[in-house]
Amino acid sequence: MVIPDDYMDQSMRKDVGLGGPYLLIMRRPTCPSGRRRLAEAARRAELGRVFERGVYANTDGRHFESVAEVRALRMMGADVIGQSMCPEVYLAREIGACYARVDLVVNYAEGVVRDWRHEELRELFFRESRAVGQILLDALRETPAEEECGCRDLRKDTLLTKDNAGKGEMRVGPDPAV
Ligand SMILES: [Zn+2]
Repeated sequence: MVIPDDYMDQSMRKDVGLGGPYLLIMRRPTCPSGRRRLAEAARRAELGRVFERGVYANTDGRHFESVAEVRALRMMGADVIGQSMCPEVYLAREIGACYARVDLVVNYAEGVVRDWRHEELRELFFRESRAVGQILLDALRETPAEEECGCRDLRKDTLLTKDNAGKGEMRVGPDPAV
């Protein structure tokens, strides 16, 4: 099991947001308190090794990645690949919520170690779904209503005004395109 502490959005979706007047800082995208509780619950479930850190590469799917894509993602620093951390992780930040997740790794990526087997993936997927659901419920039950984790401080007021909104990203210093 992997509890990601960072991510890379490799999806083709762009500019997904709720339109709030915020500057979203993704310096620490997942909640350290939530991650700790998920790790504790995952260990109690005894499904296997629990990694408390990991970089999650988010792709569009639903097809799996090619060998070349997996190789590229690995060189970029990815540890696991999936299709469900983005845009959730930045939408959570936009509403001021904490975000944490636990992932059951069900197969090797293409070109890594050995070819995965469909039966093996299916078995893990269905057999462990209750246990994973229990981990989430346990972690949620132990989550206090108010927490000093600092996640909400990573949502700042936007520096864009009506005048400069929509003119692309902000830059420090001269814009080489101008
Ligand atoms: Zn938090």
